[in-house]
Amino acid sequence: MDLIKVTAEIISKSSSTLALTGAGISAESGIPPFRGSGGLWGKYDPEEYATIEAFHQDPEKVWTMLKELGEMIFRAEPNDGHRALAELEEMGKLKSIITQNIDGLHQKAGSRSVIEFHGNHRKVVCMSCRTRLDYESISLDILPPVCHCGGIFKPESVLFGEPIPHHALHSAFHDASECEALLVIGTSAVVAPASQIPIIAKQHGAKIIEVNTERTILTGTISDFFLEGSSSHILPLVLKMLKH
Ligand code: NAD
Repeated sequence: MDLIKVTAEIISKSSSTLALTGAGISAESGIPPFRGSGGLWGKYDPEEYATIEAFHQDPEKVWTMLKELGEMIFRAEPNDGHRALAELEEMGKLKSIITQNIDGLHQKAGSRSVIEFHGNHRKVVCMSCRTRLDYESISLDILPPVCHCGGIFKPESVLFGEPIPHHALHSAFHDASECEALLVIGTSAVVAPASQIPIIAKQHGAKIIEVNTERTILTGTISDFFLEGSSSHILPLVLKMLKH
């Protein structure tokens, strides 16, 4: 079976297609996923550094990781996978992207309808007075960065143990319950509650198409089709087939 063709046909017939993306789609833009080989996460174990408890206990230590992640994010450029999704939206074939990523690369590629399930790294917020500033406008020479009120700034990205922004959670679950097709791209689908999105879509009758370099817990259970390979390779092929 030609799965690229099957996927293109499903998208072409669907009146509402969504994409759920994870760290894998940005891997080839130079931002390493949590699960996978080394890089940033070989140095900073996410379970030790990416939690709100760790931030409260030792903000300087967590900011050392956040600063390095920020440098990586602001250097990164979208790849062909991000660009293919932006073009699908432009063609009216993709309603929106729900992303677990905090890197802003979908928007940089031209996507407009993006639900940032885990927030983003573009803004920081003061943990005391809730002042919000652009991430790039604050000095990171001394860590942690401190607000004029004396409180500590934290990026608006969601750390483990923090709630999902209300509007993102609501829109994502609502859209998932109404879509006809869901592309699940570059996510291990183990981080809750984002991991519920494919299940909600499936329960409401959507076709689930997974694009990943490796099998996941969804493969063969929740997913109707599994397209094995890099998203920067597979998504442009689907786009090309759709334009045929
Ligand atoms: P994950 O690290 O758990 O899983 C990444 C998945 O991507 C794996 O299943 C892997 O097989 C797959 N993958 C790797 N390279 C790929 C490629 N080129 N094409 C397609 N698939 C590929 O990521 P997750 O499921 O998103 O969950 C981890 C959490 O980490 C998320 O909540 C996210 O907020 C955060 N995170 C974000 C970034 C980012 O913003 N770019 C980077 C690291 C972690």
